Amino acid sequence: MATCTAPRWILLTIALLSGMAASAATPVETPYGAVSLPFTLHKIPDAPVYYVVGLSGVPDSVNEGHTSNAGFVVTKAGVVVFDALGTPALGYRLLQRIREVTDKPVRCVVVSHYHADHIYGLQAFKEHANAPTVLAQRGTLGYIGGTADSQGEDAARRLEQRREALFPWVDENTIIVAPDQVFDRETSFELGGVRFEIKHLGPAHAPGDSVMLVRDYGVLFGGDVIYGGRVPFLDSPETDVEQWLAGLDYIAGLKDQVEYVIPGHGTMSEDAQRVVEATRDYILYVREAMAQAVRDFIPFDEAYRHTDWSRYEKLPAFEASNRGNAYRIYLDEEARFLK
Ligand SMILES: [Zn+2]
Repeated sequence: MATCTAPRWILLTIALLSGMAASAATPVETPYGAVSLPFTLHKIPDAPVYYVVGLSGVPDSVNEGHTSNAGFVVTKAGVVVFDALGTPALGYRLLQRIREVTDKPVRCVVVSHYHADHIYGLQAFKEHANAPTVLAQRGTLGYIGGTADSQGEDAARRLEQRREALFPWVDENTIIVAPDQVFDRETSFELGGVRFEIKHLGPAHAPGDSVMLVRDYGVLFGGDVIYGGRVPFLDSPETDVEQWLAGLDYIAGLKDQVEYVIPGHGTMSEDAQRVVEATRDYILYVREAMAQAVRDFIPFDEAYRHTDWSRYEKLPAFEASNRGNAYRIYLDEEARFLK
């Protein structure tokens, strides 16, 4: 049982935050640098569920690190946020958007997994939203140590890289906020009469990969287990394709409860089956192509060149991710083949 519902004395920064909101495309100052991207807030029809959609591509100074999605649910007793975006400035922008909708306190930030593009915004919530509880799966704790051993992706090295690639939005003052609470397989809580169910489906592309179901509104926050209308990201040392496919099966099984899927990247979908199938189809296609190449002793470059990618090459993030994805899966298949 998570304690995101714990009562807190509230120190809202409403006046400050609402006074600084501005229209899209006009640079908006934040304590962590100005954000000049449009930062559109979307809403699920007939439900107090909101989200922002990041751009495709790797985080850089053009997209200002806004490559992932995040969302929030407003209840009578407070706000539950899902994921915190890729810079403290973006986290702050999300908080500003929340303040445009409600003055209820942010009680909890649920984190789908600890990868830089989803967590650097936590700092803004800790420093400007009365330090809400950060909730994540236990596997994310490996990230906090920041060693390659603990979680494949070296968190400290990633932070250094982002301090360059995303300066001034990520700089020497940027910190990695650890979860306040962790869970193992699943957890749930109720806030303001709304039930939140969080389930670990990882490791899919990261150890902690978790999804959040808000049954009352038929909404699933899918984190990076689900990608909407774009090429998924498989190129992580912790990617576990089998586990990932099992997670997709689980989501497919929720079809009667889920009307809207808000993925970790890409567009919202009103067709859970389709979005699951699209993610699954891509993973299976890459795996089969690379496994066949490994079985035929074809070197990666040649295998990649000779694979027909036409069904995916028009999708967003194809250029940025496809080759790395294929190489990661090729190495996995090779390791499996040689075992
Ligand atoms: Zn991501």
